[in-house]
Amino acid sequence: MKKTLLVICGIALFAALPVVAQNVVRCASQPPCAEFEDWLQPLIDARMADPEIHPNAIYTIPTVMHVIHNGENVGSGTNLSVAQLNSQFDVLNEDFRKTNADFNTVVPAAFQSVAADCEINFCKAMRTPQGNAMPTPGVNRINRNTMGWTAPPYSTSYIDNTIKPATIWDPTKYFNVWVVNISGGILGYATFPVGSGLTTCMNVTLETATRTGVVILYNATGRVGNLMATYNKGRTATHEVGHWLGLRHIWGDANCGNDCCNDTPTQASSNFNCPTFPKISCNNGPNGEMYCNYMDYVPDACMAMFTQNQKARMQTCMANGTYRAPLNTSNACTPVGIDDPYFANAFTLFPNPTTGTLNIRAAFPENNLQVRVYNSLGEKVADLGRVVDKEFSIDLSSQPNGIYMVEFNNGNIVQTMRANLQR
Ligand SMILES: [Zn+2]
Repeated sequence: MKKTLLVICGIALFAALPVVAQNVVRCASQPPCAEFEDWLQPLIDARMADPEIHPNAIYTIPTVMHVIHNGENVGSGTNLSVAQLNSQFDVLNEDFRKTNADFNTVVPAAFQSVAADCEINFCKAMRTPQGNAMPTPGVNRINRNTMGWTAPPYSTSYIDNTIKPATIWDPTKYFNVWVVNISGGILGYATFPVGSGLTTCMNVTLETATRTGVVILYNATGRVGNLMATYNKGRTATHEVGHWLGLRHIWGDANCGNDCCNDTPTQASSNFNCPTFPKISCNNGPNGEMYCNYMDYVPDACMAMFTQNQKARMQTCMANGTYRAPLNTSNACTPVGIDDPYFANAFTLFPNPTTGTLNIRAAFPENNLQVRVYNSLGEKVADLGRVVDKEFSIDLSSQPNGIYMVEFNNGNIVQTMRANLQR
């Protein structure tokens, strides 16, 4: 039974990207591979078999939206207003908690019983990776002119190979969303999760630490402000975050394909307009296609639900994904000054004890880090000044054996760590 499911899911590898009217490409996410389902399905099975050991959780995902703009004033062109970006946060928080106001009017009664509160929230990042307060919570503005990038719009390969690596924030702490002027009429795309044991994905590029996240066309972002027609209710992000949490397209990316969710009816293909209930295909009567699902291609105003099985996939990815599970212990949404385990865990001293040279590795580059070492009497024995390298060393060979305190100060937070010098 499971083998059959895996083979059917593998068909999606060969699906082409559908193009809709006005040269809009609803979604340019690569369908996941058979190996992806091979990784995910046993985890879902285990979850279903013993919900007490693998209970659903209410997740809150620390999110940063990197606004890639062309030097415009805030609120103009691609440099979206705070209100527009905040409206995208609102949409995500409503859709993934089933509090969206259009649920009852958009979802036919026949499908409402399988609709899910996915119990996933999105919080605005309150601190940068360097531990500084965000000028605008959840928003990181980047002027492409100061980055030396070509003029927009940008291809997906330029975004993946140039923009993402230069701008991504630690993906174990932040869910990275890029708001970009994408070329080719593409509204958005996402990376699928990777997890322990998932090392290859034939024909599909696995996400990496410099690529994981979601990309949204700037004028398909949020539901107020500078928006194109039809895709103006923030559902591009809802759909793409669905992929980022492991969901497939509702039609399984094949004619009458399989999206690996038992509670979504088999469906012939994608829908680009608003069908009238019921739309029968693939022997899926009497209720027909679940075109109102966020993972179809219908206009934003015509999609309003995830299902229970989709929730199970997303919850499983949140619990197991390499760049999903660590988000559960991130404090990126905690305001600066409240506490700082992030900074506290940011440095590794090795070897410790040391016989003379103490090496230090930073989890992320600091722009304004001062490093000093004090002996047990509180006397300063080393001062490295400003350090920008992620790895550096301190020479303690002229000092006597004993305990030393290494002080890290980024201008915002002071953190000390204990080093032991023993020859
Ligand atoms: Zn999609």
